[in-house]
Amino acid sequence: VSEFYYQGVIDGMTELLEQLREVTGARGYLDGDSIGERHFHDLMGARRIRPQLLLRPGTTAELSRILALCHAANQPVAVQGGMTGLVSAAAPQQGEIAISMERMKQVIEIDPFTATITVEAGLPLQTLQETAAEHGLLFPLDLGSRGSCTIGGNLSTNAGGNRVIRYGMTRDLVLGLEVVLADGTVLEGLSKLRKNNTGYDLKQLFIGSEGTLGVITKAVLKLMPQPGTQDVAVCGVNGFEKVAELLLHAQKTLGGNLTGFEVIWRNTYELICQHATKVKAPLPVDYDFYVLIESMGSGGKGDRTGFEDMLGAALDLGLVSDAVLSNSAAERDALWQVRDAAAGVAAGIGFMHNYDISLNVSDMDYFGTEVEKRLRSHWPDAILGLFGHVGDGNLHIIIHVGEQTRALHQAIDDVIYGLIRELGGSVSAEHGIGLMKKSYLDYSRSAQEIQLMKTLKQALDPKGILSPGRIFD
Ligand SMILES: Cc1cc2nc3c(=O)[nH]c(=O)nc-3n(C[C@H](O)[C@H](O)[C@H](O)COP(=O)(O)OP(=O)(O)OC[C@H]3O[C@@H](n4cnc5c(N)ncnc54)[C@H](O)[C@@H]3O)c2cc1C
Repeated sequence: VSEFYYQGVIDGMTELLEQLREVTGARGYLDGDSIGERHFHDLMGARRIRPQLLLRPGTTAELSRILALCHAANQPVAVQGGMTGLVSAAAPQQGEIAISMERMKQVIEIDPFTATITVEAGLPLQTLQETAAEHGLLFPLDLGSRGSCTIGGNLSTNAGGNRVIRYGMTRDLVLGLEVVLADGTVLEGLSKLRKNNTGYDLKQLFIGSEGTLGVITKAVLKLMPQPGTQDVAVCGVNGFEKVAELLLHAQKTLGGNLTGFEVIWRNTYELICQHATKVKAPLPVDYDFYVLIESMGSGGKGDRTGFEDMLGAALDLGLVSDAVLSNSAAERDALWQVRDAAAGVAAGIGFMHNYDISLNVSDMDYFGTEVEKRLRSHWPDAILGLFGHVGDGNLHIIIHVGEQTRALHQAIDDVIYGLIRELGGSVSAEHGIGLMKKSYLDYSRSAQEIQLMKTLKQALDPKGILSPGRIFD
């Protein structure tokens, strides 16, 4: 973990800096102590480097001119959204200029006929959700960081979150993008068309590419009808085979209404009960797993009874040992707070190493037991917790081993990713690769795939100025 503060301006850059200041004006140009510390690191906080300059463009045209100047000067840049990422992708590296999208946060249009919303990339996810709701529509992407993360960050990481099981990942919610390329070229693709098979689907290149191929400035996103009902239950379940059966049972009985199937392992639930003091535990610490099930219906009378029937049958079949069902919006939010607390529980413990992996559901039980065994063989007193979007095969692991050094972090990485490789899983389900996981990229992608990624990078950013060193060197 490095704590490095850049001092001064690199020699020979005076002309570029003057040109950049002319483009952005004083409001969009910050240097030295005027750069807030939140631009030094993402939420993982593994690297803290003051960018040599922070630019805050207010329009696509401004950003285009910024990139054209940086491209001509071979000046590397780091693109920043809400800085809630967890793989050190938006955190600047030594000598980089940070470009924050925080001033580009307009809602440009809501179109009820095409059920689309067109927004600027710096718009916080929660504001987007609330704007859609004000128009009786739903933007279904939802993550614990909703208040701080931006839609540009969500697009660039192809964020997943709580409702992937029904609505897919961010990639599935996009119709069109406007992107500025490394040399300042503006790629205008703000189409609302659902069907458009005219050659390559270029927008897909930029979704999930962590700011390495272009800067997303605007997006046309799909909206859904606002659900009429939302029911949530937290269930106590003993044995992972019953968790897997409960997933199949919920999928079969709730059909398309199933929007969430989140599982908290007992080790994480204990940590939440001990450390998340604001959260009211709905069930005692008596079960192996705590499963949050969410159903959203169109508002028919059958929605609630269907949900109750699903739970009743799960109890009768012995899949669930106990359950708490929400009876109001406040109770529903309180149950979700338990799940959201899993990601934030570290605050009461100390530094947590945070992992985000994908596995076949059939391997998850073995993974949970085996990873604990292997970690304890190195760190007998480790504190660890597992939880995740099990309906999507996505697990998060949090680990506290006391000290916090780079060597230690790598040793834990080797244990976790070694097991993932053995099981044919993915070293990153949602958070991306950034700087933190790049040495493990080949655990989940073939040499040919990585070579093609590098060919694309070379074609779109031949000078390597956009977020260099992220994903691969
Ligand atoms: C409590 C908590 C819960 C979370 N839950 C989830 C979850 O359930 N699912 C999930 O997927 N993630 C989750 N995350 C991780 C994080 O919130 C997401 O990765 C989010 O999408 C990042 O958005 P951001 O605006 O903060 O992006 P940043 O962290 O600022 O940047 C992330 C990446 O996107 C790039 N980027 C940002 N904006 C642009 C742009 N306009 N154009 C090009 N590149 C850009 C950056 O360069 C960087 O590579 C969680 C994080 C926290 C702290």
